[in-house]
Amino acid sequence: MITFVGAGPGAEDLITVRGQRLLQDADMVVYAGSLVNPGLLSLCREECQIYNSAVMTLEEVLEVMTAGYREGKKVVRLHTGDPCLYGAIREQMDALEDQGIPYEVCPGVSSFCGAAAALGAEYTLPGISQSVVITRMAGRTPVPEKESIASFAAHQATMVIFLSTGMLKELSRELIRGGYPADTPAAIVYKATWPEEKVLRCTVDTLEETARKEGVTKTALIIAGRILEGGYERSRLYDPSFTTEFRQAVHQEPPAGEEKRAGQKKD
Ligand code: SAH
Repeated sequence: MITFVGAGPGAEDLITVRGQRLLQDADMVVYAGSLVNPGLLSLCREECQIYNSAVMTLEEVLEVMTAGYREGKKVVRLHTGDPCLYGAIREQMDALEDQGIPYEVCPGVSSFCGAAAALGAEYTLPGISQSVVITRMAGRTPVPEKESIASFAAHQATMVIFLSTGMLKELSRELIRGGYPADTPAAIVYKATWPEEKVLRCTVDTLEETARKEGVTKTALIIAGRILEGGYERSRLYDPSFTTEFRQAVHQEPPAGEEKRAGQKKD
């Protein structure tokens, strides 16, 4: 069996319990060395064969994994965050299927969750945004034209932008062109959950200068949207006047003035 494992966003103890067990049992690990915390490899047994895919092609990765599988080894393919986002796992899974090799996926904590934790943010605030757009700027990997940053920005929903730290001027331009007012709050989260994590708060207009001042050029997520401000409506789920499947309403009306909160921006 070959298992694709999400390593989590960085901190070594943010891998899942299952992922940890798979690493402890593995005979071979092929890890994405550009972003996976190498400290996780200390979970592996002494005799485990370890390969860094950052210096390998898809063909080479497949060659070592399939050879390992054919020798009866437990193979782990370790990807950063959760492998379902920008993980290039589809092409690996298809190639394994072509060869009749079984595989499984063990999910991980994506960096977009690590970034929310670092920000103390909730991406879905009632009355502000109930959607999260996960996207990227086109780089060497193209983005379909219908998925332009500007077209998503028109919704003014929460946006989490991967793989775009090198293009922040263009990103600001596209966010504003699409419809975000220039003073919409934004954040840059560098290496979320790693010891060297940085949380930089700014506006959609000031992304590039903010990153430049702090020397952030890669391994960051850009978050944009009014969820980074204070205001929102309180949740229905925990509202005393709201009956749910598990709880009977105790009041008919919420206490006056309680449905809106004008909170403070966190620094
Ligand atoms: N599968 C991964 C994403 C891989 S793409 C996940 O679920 O997180 C690589 C990009 O993810 C980086 O360029 C950066 O934009 C983002 N990224 C990965 N780890 C990060 C971290 N700890 N903090 C901030 N951004 C991160």
